[in-house]
Amino acid sequence: MRYVIDPPVQAAVPVAGTDAVFPVRRVYCVGRNYAAHAREMGHDPDREPPFFFMKPADALVVGGADMPYPVATADLHHEIEMVVALGKGGRDVPVESANGLIWGYGVGLDMTRRDIQGEAKKLGRPGTWAKVSTSRRRSPPCTRSPPPALIEDAAIWLEVNGVRRQASTLKALIWSVPETISYLSGLVELHPGDLIFTGTPEGVAAVGRGDVLHGHVDGLTDLEVRIV
Ligand code: MN
Repeated sequence: MRYVIDPPVQAAVPVAGTDAVFPVRRVYCVGRNYAAHAREMGHDPDREPPFFFMKPADALVVGGADMPYPVATADLHHEIEMVVALGKGGRDVPVESANGLIWGYGVGLDMTRRDIQGEAKKLGRPGTWAKVSTSRRRSPPCTRSPPPALIEDAAIWLEVNGVRRQASTLKALIWSVPETISYLSGLVELHPGDLIFTGTPEGVAAVGRGDVLHGHVDGLTDLEVRIV
């Protein structure tokens, strides 16, 4: 095959402790998957089925580089999330076998232009540009699967300049990882290389240039990002 222009570079995230990378196909994100975060955003967590949105794979920022503050916002929020990397795909995957699709896990930041999101909600418009910003969320370092029992009990937290802003455990997920994979696989066919950001706990807030963000999920490689 001869491309008429250079083909886009394959998006990928580093695999912790190796020189290998995990190739990324699509990036799915779950909205409001922790009850306390749903409440802080003005919603009733008991009445809502899971919903999903996407980020473009080429928005992933890889490596130890600083993260530039994105354009067109004055209210950039951090959302610390546990990320699932799929090594297998499927459609209508039963909850009981959903963990079998998982290749590994990572710590990710679903950086969000909250002012653009608020305006879009008010106008009933898609929230795409709140989540897609030209730059950047930090890509998750991807860690090969720990046992599911470990990940389900894991603590998740984010510190900004050494101050704990978000803290919860994966037990607080409204929709568990296998439930999320199963539900999503009923909406789209999942494929190897897909990432799923599983939602953020309460405590989201704005960050600015110079802030250092340190994210953690028990058993995974920590994530550190400086906003510049
Ligand atoms: Mn999020």
